[in-house]
Amino acid sequence: MTADDDLHWMQYALQLADKAEQSGEIPVGAVLVKDGVVLGEGWNQSIQLNDPSAHAEMIAIRQAAEKIGNYRLIDCTLYVTLEPCAMCAGLLVHSRVKRLVFGAKDAKTGAAGSVLDIVRHPVLNHQLDVLDGPLAQQCADKLSEFFRRRRAEQKALKQQEKQQSVEEGQFKR
Ligand SMILES: [Zn+2]
Repeated sequence: MTADDDLHWMQYALQLADKAEQSGEIPVGAVLVKDGVVLGEGWNQSIQLNDPSAHAEMIAIRQAAEKIGNYRLIDCTLYVTLEPCAMCAGLLVHSRVKRLVFGAKDAKTGAAGSVLDIVRHPVLNHQLDVLDGPLAQQCADKLSEFFRRRRAEQKALKQQEKQQSVEEGQFKR
């Protein structure tokens, strides 16, 4: 795996994050790669699927395991635009993924070094090689842009409701 490969696949994961964003989900994308071949890919779909476990990593890994017909994903690398949460970090350990490359750090729920370090916990029976940083800024910008827009939309909606209730009040008088 060269640094160029890492950038290429992180770019790919960012494109998957766009798919999440297009459907109003938090823009996170993940792709699982072995020997330069995509085995699974995913993006956040928790809201659409009413599934709190439908994170990008979870979807990519389920797809890959089904594709190769094995619950162990030996010698694979998972690229994800945001540092995995505790659930996904646990999944990476269970599935024996060899390497994790992520873009933006998650200071609140990151479980690959920020809050917890599940993927490199010495007591667990599998540890991953971890690289963070490729396209970190683009990954973080995509998230903060999404949240900024969502806050603005919520604010606009509230103002609209407020305006409506004022108008209804006037109508009553
Ligand atoms: Zn997760």
